[in-house]
Amino acid sequence: MSTFDYQFFVVGGGSGGVRAARIAAGFGARVAIAENFRYGGTCVIRGCVPKKLLVHAAHFSADFADAEGFGWSVPPAQFSWPKLIAGKNDQISRLSGMYESNLDRSGVTVLHGSARLLDPHTVDLDGKRFSAEHILIATGGIPFLPSIPGIEHAITSNEVFDLAELPRRVLIVGGGYIAVEFAGIFRGLGAEVTMAYRGEQILRGFDDDLRQHLHDEMVANGIRIVLHSDVKGIERQQDGTLSVAVSGAAADTHNVDAVLYATGRVPNTEGLGLAEIGVTLDKKGGVVVDAMGRSTVANIFAVGDVTNRIALTPVAIREGAAVATSLFGPAPMAADLTTVPSAVFSQPPIGTVGMSETEALKHYAEIDIYRADFRSLRHSLTARRERTLIKLIVDAASQRVVGAHMIGADAAEIIQGVAIAIRMGATKADFDATVAIHPTSAEEFVTLKEKTTRKRHD
Ligand code: NDP
Repeated sequence: MSTFDYQFFVVGGGSGGVRAARIAAGFGARVAIAENFRYGGTCVIRGCVPKKLLVHAAHFSADFADAEGFGWSVPPAQFSWPKLIAGKNDQISRLSGMYESNLDRSGVTVLHGSARLLDPHTVDLDGKRFSAEHILIATGGIPFLPSIPGIEHAITSNEVFDLAELPRRVLIVGGGYIAVEFAGIFRGLGAEVTMAYRGEQILRGFDDDLRQHLHDEMVANGIRIVLHSDVKGIERQQDGTLSVAVSGAAADTHNVDAVLYATGRVPNTEGLGLAEIGVTLDKKGGVVVDAMGRSTVANIFAVGDVTNRIALTPVAIREGAAVATSLFGPAPMAADLTTVPSAVFSQPPIGTVGMSETEALKHYAEIDIYRADFRSLRHSLTARRERTLIKLIVDAASQRVVGAHMIGADAAEIIQGVAIAIRMGATKADFDATVAIHPTSAEEFVTLKEKTTRKRHD
């Protein structure tokens, strides 16, 4: 019997930490978990969940406009930001409460406070000390803000969910997940939106066709995208508005009501005392771990965003489950992250799994590309010009589908099923042999008979 207060002490009550704690307790371990904010972590409190609610809210403006083509006369709609935020707050409070009560029901000791490691087996929680055989760091990430003059006037994804009112004009800095998602949210809710991105195209790392397609759709929806741009400074004017100097290809001064920085996130390790006790951190402060989630101190583990690898909730959950099972379950296991699908809840949304065309060309001698770019049936009766793009990337030699990408309505819902096929190693012939569901957009995944092009690695 271990003489420690706990066999497993989890620091951080987000997706990864909570899953690890509950699984460890399920195996009979004595487990405690500590959180210094609200249980649920970024995803539940100020990430995936509230963001998706806002995405739904934003989509109604398009739905009201499209209804006319189907015979509806819709009176001018009124939108209340405070009502949306109140509803969102109720929902996240409910979920956060559920996280705590589920932990409690699983037999985990639920603690509140800020943790600091004093040595590899001692956690200080706001002055109270606990000894622990194994410790899991699951403290997630925090927004990264570059230091430019006036950056204190900017908000991040931490504040955006609790604004007192909907800003009329917004400047969004960055071109990644959060930037494109919030551009769509604010635009759908009626704001004037400008995105300033330093690179040549938004969503670096995604398939180039998706990037261009989303760019075109966002512009068609009235979002201004300024590429190759750099924010030089932000000044607050006497009337409370913000003046933002942007340099680059389209140098300009933008007068807006809010500036949202979505310039990436960094691991949340400050103040945990990790480096002091020998835990190696990478240059962004992320905990360096092996395939089993073990840090350079043998009894200290880390999962999720704090490890600075794939910053996605379902990944953190897998990693948390793997660490807890390895320590207290029947056999050691590593999280299998060979094919991680993901979605961007932009408008229209993106669903993607496997390699982009550029990545595939680096891995395979020859690839076949299949594409369908079409206007969905729904939009045959609306004034919207929105198009859907579906793309398959196939290794020419083995005929395995190595990438599947979609931008269009319900892409996130559709790609989840496609991801199962890709993970199982489905070939193009398997896709072709699957009977279509008609009429859908998803059926294009199984009816792409003619290849668009074959490309060779050079
Ligand atoms: P991303 O890494 O997706 O994007 C960051 C953006 O900011 C990039 O466009 C980057 O440009 C730009 N940038 C970085 N540093 C600077 C700088 N100093 N000045 C100007 N621009 C800069 O981060 P996000 O903040 O959007 O999201 C964080 C993470 O959260 C995501 O990577 C994702 O893992 C996760 N997330 C997932 C979601 C989902 O699954 N739907 C939704 C939201 C977040 P460049 O491309 O040139 O590097």
